[in-house]
Amino acid sequence: MSYNKFSATQLFDGYNFLPTGTVLITSVKGEIIDTVASEDAGDDVQHLKGILSPGFINCHCHLELSHLKNTIPQQTGLVNFLQHVMSNIAASNEEKLAAMQSAENELYKTGIVAVGDICNTADTIPIKQHSKIHWHNFIEVSGFVETGAQKRLKEIKKIADQFSILNFKFSTVPHAPYSVSKKLFELLNTLPNNNLISIHNQESEEESKLYKNKTGIFLELYKNFGIDISKFNSSGKTSLQTWLPYFTNNQRIIAVHNTFISKEDLTFTKSYIENRTSNIAFCLCPNANLYIENNLPPIDLLVKNNCTIVLGTDSLASNHQLNMLEEIKTIQQYYPKIELQTLLQWATSNGAAALQMKEKLGSFEKGKKPGLVLIEKNLKESKRIL
Ligand SMILES: [Zn+2]
Repeated sequence: MSYNKFSATQLFDGYNFLPTGTVLITSVKGEIIDTVASEDAGDDVQHLKGILSPGFINCHCHLELSHLKNTIPQQTGLVNFLQHVMSNIAASNEEKLAAMQSAENELYKTGIVAVGDICNTADTIPIKQHSKIHWHNFIEVSGFVETGAQKRLKEIKKIADQFSILNFKFSTVPHAPYSVSKKLFELLNTLPNNNLISIHNQESEEESKLYKNKTGIFLELYKNFGIDISKFNSSGKTSLQTWLPYFTNNQRIIAVHNTFISKEDLTFTKSYIENRTSNIAFCLCPNANLYIENNLPPIDLLVKNNCTIVLGTDSLASNHQLNMLEEIKTIQQYYPKIELQTLLQWATSNGAAALQMKEKLGSFEKGKKPGLVLIEKNLKESKRIL
């Protein structure tokens, strides 16, 4: 059996930077054999310039929206953004497929080995069938009118079945607090074999206005789309404090965006999950937040509260690229005190755990096959090398 041996300017193992000179040994196919000191590594060590890291885990993307790249105006707020996405900008099937294929290539080449991908349709299946990336498909359901909940779930099951029949990993998940009724949340809570939940959370300040006292710009959105919300009662609490208790079956939850999460929300979350085996990871997509709302989540507050943080790119409808390094750089720019080692951990081992893929991905531990990524030129570029 022959091996690959790599050393690099810096070697990051998914958790920490390893001592200078450490050599990573893998099989030819990229399975991790060991990390050893340089004096124990023998001959034929390839030296790489840059940071060598396990492959990135992108916990939030919408591959099916790739054709919307550069079509939606920036910084107009979430409600305007949603109206643009829902207006179904014309694209042929060929154009959609070409855009998704080019996005998948970008994900792969820049070092992303796994994606948590939101699916409202089965459009991405032809791309995923030929992809070397690991996918967890979040089949997303919405419906804010209580009486339509059963029907919505039935409709989305037809999409889920198309993933299921091909043995893709998937779970059925709520879109967002402002688009899912209490009844639909309750149905999702009891759906069998549906442990991994993703939800867009507190992406706009308007979401909490809706839940606290049934006011704000979402009321206009419902009116524009002819959605009757007369039966919706405000809870008097923030959206997070309202929807989280709907999940009572120890689900693993990825809350995405969290742009307007508060200290009280975090205290609430901590006490809610304390006595359960459920956990919650907070997924940050800073470039999408800047694109849509020109705002960023309180990342320092999440760090201070020891929250589990993971990263995502969101879609090309709200981002100029699907590149995890660009998300890392944006966080560094606005939160320079957060160490690179921490950011890389969010992008690798934390993401792998959140997507329930840590057996294989996220770190340089014996037996895993996490993909090798080289981050070059002072964080300018990343590329998959194995
Ligand atoms: Zn999203």
